[in-house]
Formats: sequence, C-alpha cells, structure tokens
Amino acid sequence: MKYLDAFRDGAVARKLVEKLHARVADYAGQMTFMEVCGTHTMAISQHGIRSLLPEQIRLISGPGCPVCVTPVDYVDHAVALARLPEVIIATFGDMIRVPGSSSSLQREQARGAGVRIVYSPLDALALAQKHPDKKIVFLGVGFETTAPTIAGAVLTAQRQGLSNFFVLGANKTIPIPMAVLASDPELQVSGYLCPAHVSAIIGPQAYAPLVAQQKVPCVITGFEPLDMLQGIDMLATQVLEGQPRVETQYSRIVRPEGNPQARAVLEQVFIPCDTPWRGIGVIPGSGLCFREEFAAFDAARQIPVDVETPREHPGCLCGEILKGKVRPADCPLFRTICTPEDPVGACMVSSEGTCAAEYKYGI
Ligand code: SF4
Ligand code: SF4
Repeated sequence: MKYLDAFRDGAVARKLVEKLHARVADYAGQMTFMEVCGTHTMAISQHGIRSLLPEQIRLISGPGCPVCVTPVDYVDHAVALARLPEVIIATFGDMIRVPGSSSSLQREQARGAGVRIVYSPLDALALAQKHPDKKIVFLGVGFETTAPTIAGAVLTAQRQGLSNFFVLGANKTIPIPMAVLASDPELQVSGYLCPAHVSAIIGPQAYAPLVAQQKVPCVITGFEPLDMLQGIDMLATQVLEGQPRVETQYSRIVRPEGNPQARAVLEQVFIPCDTPWRGIGVIPGSGLCFREEFAAFDAARQIPVDVETPREHPGCLCGEILKGKVRPADCPLFRTICTPEDPVGACMVSSEGTCAAEYKYGI
C-alpha cells in the first residue's frame, strides 16, 4: 500500500473487521486494549473504530496526551512565570488554554503578559536571540518525540552562549506509566496499542521489560483506520495464543533500533527522574530532568517565583479518564459546563484529549 488512501480502503477494512470477528468468535472473555497516544484516541473516535469491534474487544484510552497528563501545578508555575515582567513564555498552542488553579496562560496573555505560541523549541531560541533583555521560557511538555528537539535547542543555546533561554521541564517517558497501569487490577489491560511516533524514537525494545514482567501484549500501531484494525487484530491474536510479545504493525515508520541519534541527544541533556502525572501521581523514573551540567537552562532552578497552591476543579474527572477508568460521558460536566470553547479540564483543551475527541466525534 503506497498511498495514504490505501490505508482507508473501505473494502479492505470490511475484510479486516470480518476476520477479527471470526478470530474472537469463540472467545468467552473480554479483551481490554488501551491506546496510549493522543492521535490514536482521536483517530479511533474519528473513524468510529469502537463500533466496528466484536463485543469481546473493548478499547480504553490511556495517558497518551502530553498536555493532558501535565498536572495543574505545572500550569500554575508557568502562569507565575508569565506574570514576571522580564519573562516571555514560549509554548505550543494547546498549553495556553489549559486551566490552572486560578488562571491560564491565555488569561495572563489577555492581561498583557508575555506569552507566545511557537511551533518548535527552535522558534523559542529565535525569540531569545531577538529579545536579549528578556528571559524566554519554553514549556517543555511532551514525550520522547519532543524531548530530543528540546535537547537539541538547549545544545544550540549552549553553543551560541545564549544565557536568556530556559526550559520549564515536564517531559515524560511512556513505557513506565504503561507498566504502572498494566499492574492496576481494576483496569485489567489485556494489550497496548503502542504509540507510533514515540516508538519511532525509543524502538520496540523499549517495551520488552513491560512484556517480560507484566505479560502484556504490545503492538506499535499506525494512525490510519486499517493500521488500527490490523493492530487490534494482532493484539487479539497474541491474547488468544497466550504469547505476549512486542510487534510492530507500523513498520513503514518504526525501525527495530528506533532512532539512536535522537536518543543520544536526549540522553546528553536529560536524565530520568521522578515526575507527577495528572491522575496517576508521581511515577518514579518516568520524567526527564536536566543533567547537572545543563542546570543553567532549567527555568525551575534559575527563575525563582512563588507558585500558588494547586487546586483541581472538583468536578473534573480528567485524572480517571487518563487512567482509562471512566469515559468522558461519565463526567457530569461533559458537554454541559465543559466544552472545547470553555474547557474545565486539560482533556477537553488538547487537540489529542479524550474529552475533546469524544466531544467532536461522539464516541
Ligand atoms: S507525539 Fe505522536 S506518538 Fe506521541 S502522543 Fe502525540 S501523536 Fe502519539
Ligand atoms: S469533560 Fe471536562 S470536566 Fe469532565 S473530565 Fe473531561 S475535561 Fe474534565
């Protein structure tokens, strides 16, 4: 299949669906597959994948959106920094609308604070070059896909001797929280649709410990409807065979070795550390913090500021949604008080959020 349209071919999709129904027809149990990529969450809703599956297979969404999993105290920290006259916050678009405890970056921007939307950490670097009298703070929110680009920007800033470029770090890694959720008896995860872009960096072997220790099937899956149907079929096959392993459905992008160059840049600048996940809490070793030799770029250490005591909206169920324990429709605020125009929680803000996906596509 050479062109993208081929991955949306209705006739092939029907055959795959029939094959999947036949495969699990005699299976008496329930298979619960979790996707841990915001783009999968969106694509599953957009293409109505759930409605095509046999009753034996249930899809749940996990902590796959980096904006959603970033806790409220991080937003509060960014808001506090934005209020400093010498600071300009540089961030990807979704973050500015995420509600903090009492404000958001968007609200601070409307009050005159320096908040700029950028499309890459290099844009933030360019801002630092253009405004030597300001401190440019890039919001380092993302998984293993974003972290190498941030590390690259830090190395460039170091080479250029830029002393006004900082990162407020919240980068996270994906396999460790997958292991945490796999051991949650309430969830009973039978298999993971592993993220595509993240896996292109970390490589399939990154999931080997998860499979070895938790016996959970893992399939790295692409974003098109046929990719996802095939990925689900591969997971179901592993469950039926009782032989969990890591497989790559998305082999047109993901190489067995991942991207060693990107990992090398990441590891040059960052070191694993404990980090908090919205709804899950602190997961040891799941974050990426600056190595000591790059502490000069760490906004948290270099720009002291008072941050308010964090407060979540009492009605928001984002935390439970990110663990796959409830669906957006279970939240009493969904569609009534909480909408994409006026979001209460991060899961409704982000373009990859589970609540935003269900609001837009209905399932
Ligand atoms: S960066 Fe790519 S792999 Fe990671 S959550 Fe977003 S779409 Fe999924
Ligand atoms: S619908 Fe809104 S309030 Fe409810 S869980 Fe989702 S983001 Fe939170």
